[in-house]
Amino acid sequence: MSGSAVIFIVAFAALLGLVIGSFLNVVIYRVPAKVSLLRESRCPGCNSAIRPWNNVPVLSWVVLRGRCADCDEPISARYPLVEAATGAAFALVAWASLASQASVGGSWTAAATVVTIAYLYFAAISVTLTMIDLDTRRLPNDIVLPSYIVAAVLFALASLLDADWTGLLRAAIGGLGLYAFYFVLRLIRPAGMGGGDVKLAGLVGIYLAWLGWGTLVVGAFAAFLLGGVFGIVLLITRRAGRRTAIPFGPWMLAGAWVGIFAGQTVGQWYVGTWAVGS
Ligand SMILES: [Zn+2]
Repeated sequence: MSGSAVIFIVAFAALLGLVIGSFLNVVIYRVPAKVSLLRESRCPGCNSAIRPWNNVPVLSWVVLRGRCADCDEPISARYPLVEAATGAAFALVAWASLASQASVGGSWTAAATVVTIAYLYFAAISVTLTMIDLDTRRLPNDIVLPSYIVAAVLFALASLLDADWTGLLRAAIGGLGLYAFYFVLRLIRPAGMGGGDVKLAGLVGIYLAWLGWGTLVVGAFAAFLLGGVFGIVLLITRRAGRRTAIPFGPWMLAGAWVGIFAGQTVGQWYVGTWAVGS
């Protein structure tokens, strides 16, 4: 694949991410409030419908200087930030997919496209669940449970296209394994872990293990490392006491993305250093 083709695909993914991010802003507010996603968006200040040209991701917020076009009500900076984060995440996923395909020297396949879509979906729900968990301390079943079906369908389709079922088997074992691990953690210490975290763990396990065992181990461990460091920083800066509940969903997801981007490399290094020749 030529350099300009790579740039075109990554730029397209970024634009797609900006548009999806705009939709995720709606999901983040309406799913916890149980409001229909199909209703049109209105300004909370003056209740006027938001016109399409004032709803362009990031750009409209900048042009309107963070205020409603009708009533000057301030519009939170988190809207363009969610859009920008989703755009950046989509660009990274597209770039990493192209890079990993190039590194094994293979040509781009239909299966690779399906797998890329699966990780773009995971990026979208990562942004959504992070914001909802920070807002409400919940990980809604309405998002987590259908995501198992999306993952199962996409990874099964990719396996079918490639006629290779090892990744799907590994993903299933990884999902069950990480679910069981969090289930036991919650049994041991019910206050430290929510039921939503256990349900999300199975999904995270599927996405990590699809890529490899090294990815699963690094991604699962990184969640506790990141969450632990953050907790210590809060304690030191006295922004939290020993009993303050910190939502763990964002750390599970952040750890998962560390695993997705670094896990393969660390896993290969480990295998290369310790296992080869033994
Ligand atoms: Zn308004």
